[in-house]
Amino acid sequence: MTTLVESEEHKALREAVASFARNHPRTPATDSRRFWQDAAKLGYIGVNLPEAYGGGGGGITELCLVSEEMGAAGNPLLMMIVSPAICGTVISRFGTEAQKREWLPALADGSRLMAFGITEPDAGSNSHRITTTARRDPGTGDWLLTGRKVFVSGVDIADATLVVGRTEDARTGRLKPCLFIVPRDTPGFGRRMIDMELYATEKQFELVLDDVRLPADALVGDEDAGLLQLFAGLNPERIMTAAFAIGMGRFALSRAVEYARERTVWKAPIGAHQAIAHPLAQAHIELELARLMMQKAAHLYDAGDDVGAGEAANMAKYAAAEACVKAVDQAVHTLGGNGLTREFGLASLVTAARVSRIAPVSREMILNYVSHQTLGLPKSY
Ligand SMILES: Cc1cc2nc3c(=O)[nH]c(=O)nc-3n(C[C@H](O)[C@H](O)[C@H](O)COP(=O)(O)OP(=O)(O)OC[C@H]3O[C@@H](n4cnc5c(N)ncnc54)[C@H](O)[C@@H]3O)c2cc1C
Repeated sequence: MTTLVESEEHKALREAVASFARNHPRTPATDSRRFWQDAAKLGYIGVNLPEAYGGGGGGITELCLVSEEMGAAGNPLLMMIVSPAICGTVISRFGTEAQKREWLPALADGSRLMAFGITEPDAGSNSHRITTTARRDPGTGDWLLTGRKVFVSGVDIADATLVVGRTEDARTGRLKPCLFIVPRDTPGFGRRMIDMELYATEKQFELVLDDVRLPADALVGDEDAGLLQLFAGLNPERIMTAAFAIGMGRFALSRAVEYARERTVWKAPIGAHQAIAHPLAQAHIELELARLMMQKAAHLYDAGDDVGAGEAANMAKYAAAEACVKAVDQAVHTLGGNGLTREFGLASLVTAARVSRIAPVSREMILNYVSHQTLGLPKSY
């Protein structure tokens, strides 16, 4: 394992990203696309994509590092979980030469962005139940895609969405997913913004696909490749969600520590009271432990061990989400009334932190996975 001691290169990348993110204050009202493009120009967004297609030639390890530091500086980029981590990875690993040339350099340089849609209203956590269906037009060889998706992030700012469907002859039974690139303005591809109680730049959408006509080459990878191909993207998504949560947790914790050092209502600053200090110390330990698991998962993934990475990615996402929710809760509490003011910017993280407990796979589904896959316990569903 090379992950326990961080290399000089990784430390330098960490510092450079942190400094960039601190010096580019951004709120939902400011130009997020510009922030994304500036980060991309410095090589941060495409750090995991192959060098031959304009990327940095690194892996999920480096992409996590970027995402964590962006979050820790209070400038999280949710779409990093989707555009370079899921879509970039799937296209790099399974795309045709033409798809790679069309998408990878643009995803890396920030000129284009891709969203990812798998969740459906009637399937939710049970992705084996998805019904978005692709059928071939025998006359033209085109695909016609029909279905509904929910909670898909960033569809408005993404040039295309990578949509998970199933082919018509695989409509029932175990999921044999296939992935389609759907450009944003394709006729029949409708979207409606979902009104979320989330203070974030990225919005979530319900999508309606009504006989969306796509050329044959909109399909990424093999229509029979099945779950392997999908998990090539879903494992990075889980590992990156861990990075996102750890970054957010670190940000909240640093705000709380700063406040606890100064705020004095008796003789000593409130941080001298163990009732305040110990939960912050615990939050720090739990974030560090989660990061270790995230680094393990990223290392396994980058080393090509998809199966090992699957288990570690789930555990890392679980640990990071729990650590993030706890850190944010304790941070808000540490600030007393100020914890709930807009000025200190922590209250909105209470809802934001919960996202990593629900998405992309919920806490319970990870506990199910570990119960069945790791511990060999029977299934209830
Ligand atoms: C901010 C945000 C952004 C998102 N972005 C995207 C995106 O870009 N693309 C995308 O495709 N999706 C996205 N999602 C969707 C997300 O992946 C889903 O919300 C998530 O997978 C859970 O599905 P669900 O909401 O349908 O919950 P459900 O599946 O309905 O689950 C509801 C509750 O029941 C529990 N539950 C369900 N089944 C079991 C079981 N067998 N055992 C125990 N408990 C169970 C769950 O743990 C959960 O607590 C996003 C969601 C959010 C909140």
